[in-house]
Formats: sequence, structure tokens, C-alpha cells
Amino acid sequence: MKKYYLIAPGPTPVPPEVSAQEGLPILHHRTSEFGAIFTEVIENLKYVFQTRNDVLIMTGSGTASMESAVANLLSPGDAALVASTGWFGDRFAKILDTYGIQTTLVREDDGKSVVPAKIQEALRSNPRIKVVFATHTETSTGVVNDIRAIGQIVAQTPAVLVVDSVSGLAGQDLPTDGWKVDVVCTGSQKGLMTAPGLAMVSVSAKAWPLVEASKSPRFYFDWRKMRKSIADKQTPFTPAVTIVVALAEALRQIKREGLENVFARHAWLAQATRAGAQALGLQLFAQAPCNVLTSIRVPEGINGKTIVKRLREEYGVSIAGGQGELDGKIIRLAHMGFMERFDVVIAISALEMMLCELGAPVELGKGVAAVQRVLLTQGKTAGGSAAAGSPAAAGVR
Ligand code: PMP
Repeated sequence: MKKYYLIAPGPTPVPPEVSAQEGLPILHHRTSEFGAIFTEVIENLKYVFQTRNDVLIMTGSGTASMESAVANLLSPGDAALVASTGWFGDRFAKILDTYGIQTTLVREDDGKSVVPAKIQEALRSNPRIKVVFATHTETSTGVVNDIRAIGQIVAQTPAVLVVDSVSGLAGQDLPTDGWKVDVVCTGSQKGLMTAPGLAMVSVSAKAWPLVEASKSPRFYFDWRKMRKSIADKQTPFTPAVTIVVALAEALRQIKREGLENVFARHAWLAQATRAGAQALGLQLFAQAPCNVLTSIRVPEGINGKTIVKRLREEYGVSIAGGQGELDGKIIRLAHMGFMERFDVVIAISALEMMLCELGAPVELGKGVAAVQRVLLTQGKTAGGSAAAGSPAAAGVR
């Protein structure tokens, strides 16, 4: 018997009611029945994106939403800026390169966040920059970027702001309209608690003229076709019907919980995870850690790849290691989407047992106790501050 615990930052676990939707008979996509579900999904996505802009759905993973942004907003020879804080920010630069865009890369060291003043400076020195690309929560390092500050800067220029929130959406607050983000890119398999297979974008009124003007090749990922079809409650091509139907249920659950509560739960679990890791004497990797995953430096003398492999093979616990340069040096634990307090207990408990097996000087139970203390004493308030009347006042030690 092997029980499997998915604690990696995407794909993430799916609630049973959402999985159950996937077992229902397949709907034809050109029917009023599907049209009603599709329309509900678009409306509820607007709630989660916190936007009144158009929201488009395409079949593909998160990267499809990123590539579609490049293809729809820019023409070969145009100038763009990428504010990258890791592997996924760098992906934007690679896509831009593929499309023949002149890219200015403002790259922070892994573990650090974007310095918004650098974006301001880059935009000042190159007024040809049409689009600024940034990452909300950089999954490869666990940092959160200050999208609000970046949004304020870009909004004062003719440029549009594209934010990759593939891992952040529905976990870490991103008021799309409030923070003046023109395009938000995401996927179904993380905070949205659904199987992989759908990519989504929101597109502002400021961004649409660029879409009309783009000379980049695009057929399947043409946002104009997608927008036109929405009026008929359809997609231009056969969508991943099953995943749309499952996503409808996941979005109902998010709405029922309430976005504010979803964010507070993520902040709470993040705080507990960080406390657990630190109690084990481990160092956090991100300078400004996000609330959807925690990246942890692997102790000297241990290979992070071994931790990840043995946790998966021997304990059935699936976490993530480092990507690229960080391979073997960090591990990443998710608290994203359909996760609750005991997911954190499992993650930290498994980690301390594995470190013990690998000969690291950890005291069993110390990490778990720190997790439990946070879970008991901190209210589920955004930012994780103790709620009035919480057990903190009752003296839990
Ligand atoms: N951006 C970020 C921040 C991500 O976390 C991911 C997925 N790990 C992606 C982009 C790429 O998404 P996908 O693997 O679904 O194409």
C-alpha cells in the first residue's frame, strides 16, 4: 500500500468534488449546456482575477498563456522589458527571443525580488519599450514581487504590464484592476485547484490596441478569436471540456470560501511552514517569501536531489527541488490551492524524518512543534498576525 502526498508547487491536489466532475459524461462544446458552464467560469474567473477586463481561456499549460501574451502584444523588432527573479521570469525572455523581440533583461539574483526603481529607470532610458513582463510569485525561488509598485510605474507610461501569476493566483493577493495590471497569465493546476490543461489571461482596454497591431504569427493563440467566441459562449476550438467543467466546481469552492479567506489561509500555512523549517535550523531561501510555497536551503553536505527522491520513493511525499543553478541546493514545499493545516504538518514531519535519515543534526519533533504552535496561536488573518481571542492569549507554549 502506498499513499501519495502531493506537496509540490504545481500541479497541486484537487478537491474530491472537483475530480468527480471529471468523471461525468463529456459535454459537446457547441451546446447551451456547455455554454452556461463556460460563461459561469469566465464570470468567476473575473472574481478571482479581481478584474472587469476580458478573461480568455485556452487549452494548454501556464506557458501557453505566457507565449500567447508575447504573440498577441508584440511584433518582431519591438522592444520589451523583462523583470526576472528566476527560472520563470527567464522563460519570458526566452519566449521573447523566439519571437524576435528586442529584450532588456533586468535580472535579480535568485532569492531576491524586483527593485521597482530599476524598471522605472529602464523605461525612462528606452521609451520604445512597449511591454513590461514580471512574475508575481516566482515559483523557482519562492519570492513575491511588488506588483503594486511595478503597476504604478508602468501605468504612468504608454507601456503595458504583463504579470505571470501562474503560481500566485488564488493564493497571493493580486488585485488586477486595483494594481493596474494589463495582462495576467495563469494556469488551472495550482491555486485554481484543478487538473493541468487550461491557460487563462485577463486583457485590459490598454492592451487591446497592441493585440490589434501585432504582426507576430498566431493562429491557435489569437486572442481576438477567443474574445469574439466568448460572445457566443464558446471557444474558437474544441476546449478541454472536462477541465472547464471541473474548474467550474473549483471556482464555486473558492467563491464560497471567499478570496480574502483564501489569501488568509495561504498566509497562515506559509507562516507555519517557515516556522517549521527555521525550527529545524534550516535557512529560508527567499528574501521576500511568498505565501504559496516555501523555498529552503539544503544543509551543507546533503544533496537536495536526494531529499526529493527519497521523500517521494520511500515516504510517498512529493515535494520539489531546485531548478537550473539551484538544482540540489534548495527544496520547495507548497502550501498552494487545496491545502489545509495538516498538509504542512505532513510536509515538515516528513522533512525532519528524512533529514534525520540523512544524518543531519535535527531533533525529531522540533519542526512539527513549531508548525503546530503557529497553527494554534496565529489566527487565519491575512499576513498571519494573531487574531484576537486566539489561543495565543491562553498561553500555548
Ligand atoms: N510561471 C510560473 C510562475 C510557474 O510556477 C509555472 C509552473 N511551474 C509556469 C510559469 C509554467 O507553467 P506550466 O508548467 O503550466 O506551463
